Amino acid sequence: GRGRGVDLSGSGDGSGTSAGPVLESRGQDSEFFGFLVGLGDLENEYRLHHLSDDAAQSRIAYFLWLVSSITLVYFDYLVLGPTRAFATMVAVRVIFACALIGSLLIFRHISTVRHYDWMTLGVSLVMAAFVYSINASRPPDYFANFVLDILFPLSMYLVVRNRLLFCTIAACAFSAVDLFSLIADRHAVPPMFRNVVIASHVLANIMGFLVAAEINSFRRRAYRLYCDEISSRRLIERIASVDDLTGSVTRRSFLEALDHEMLRSRRFGRSLTIIVMDLDGFKKINDSHGHYAGDELLRHFASTVTSQKREIDVFGRLGGEEFCLMLPETSLDGAALVAERVRETWASFELPFDGVPLRSTVSLGVATLAATDDSYHSLLRRADGLLYDAKHLGRNRVVIESGSPGTKVTIGSHAVVAGADESSDETTGASPRFSSN
Ligand code: GH3
Ligand code: MG
Ligand code: MG
Repeated sequence: GRGRGVDLSGSGDGSGTSAGPVLESRGQDSEFFGFLVGLGDLENEYRLHHLSDDAAQSRIAYFLWLVSSITLVYFDYLVLGPTRAFATMVAVRVIFACALIGSLLIFRHISTVRHYDWMTLGVSLVMAAFVYSINASRPPDYFANFVLDILFPLSMYLVVRNRLLFCTIAACAFSAVDLFSLIADRHAVPPMFRNVVIASHVLANIMGFLVAAEINSFRRRAYRLYCDEISSRRLIERIASVDDLTGSVTRRSFLEALDHEMLRSRRFGRSLTIIVMDLDGFKKINDSHGHYAGDELLRHFASTVTSQKREIDVFGRLGGEEFCLMLPETSLDGAALVAERVRETWASFELPFDGVPLRSTVSLGVATLAATDDSYHSLLRRADGLLYDAKHLGRNRVVIESGSPGTKVTIGSHAVVAGADESSDETTGASPRFSSN
């Protein structure tokens, strides 16, 4: 089998969007012997997946065996009357019934495929031994039961669920034992009857095998499709929610989270602040060092912010080199500190690229949820406006909303602005400084 690794553990390997093995079409195994081929690494998961259903189905088989075994006491009585032979038959049937009831109880507690398989095989072999005891304790001219016995190998293939090999061993063993007692009873059984029973056992085994094989193969295919479905869904979810380049949250996913958080914050009267960030002069970096360098910088910027945020903060890529950090339960002051820390860290970051240290700066706009915000659009628009102000004030700085609407505060330095227009800079000094305007 070439069925391969679908990660059902849910852990993922963080390897991004390797769609290859997942979407690759499968189930093209050779049609005829497909049923003999397992699922490779998936085989055990497949069996475990079906284990409780399999056990339930096998319990049905055992229940049928139990009922037929008990019902036949009546027929034994019709044939034998209140004799010693009848009493022996009843005793054998009671012992078997107890064994089956015990198995039914034990089956409830089986949790591994291996135990289940051997247990199932064991019960089927007990059934064969039971039928042999019945045959042995039966008077020589009482052989109508051999007709009924043909149903047992069929049930071992079709109702008892086990791996095909074990079903085959159980059914063949049953037929062999049953036919042995039939043939050993040479004098009593008419040859024609004997031949019909032998032929029926052979046919029952062949048909049972083929149908069981088909069922197994069908179920394996279904399981493989099920696994493909799950991993495709995971892949789609991942593509939809994680940005491929930076590993940050996608715009779509970020806006969803923001929407949800806004509802929550408003409902509970909590503060919620966002920081919109845009790398400065990024086009220039692309133009002079190539897109690969730009991509690398974007990746490093994302990991810089990610390493500074709290677990509950959500960092998303809004597009291009523009990002947004959502800070639940955070006031403007708290967010301003975070924004300034990001700005500072990023301004001092150097990316060694072709022997040249690449540097970049970032401008940030910080806005907080207001009573007038009825959707994230207005909040984002305000933060974006502040970011725009930061660009105009000379880049590499943070502009935050001040308490009253329409006023803002700028913090940050211009010390390491690369290629930015510094003439409009209003703040001075290396340490964060607040200036109202
Ligand atoms: P400003 O300081 O005003 O923000 O200038 P800027 O050059 O950063 O802004 P502009 O919006 O003009 O340019 C953004 C550039 O970012 C243009 C685009 O080529 C580049 N960019 C957007 N997405 C990616 C990306 O995924 N990888 C790379 N390498 N570049 C990107
Ligand atoms: Mg930019
Ligand atoms: Mg931009």
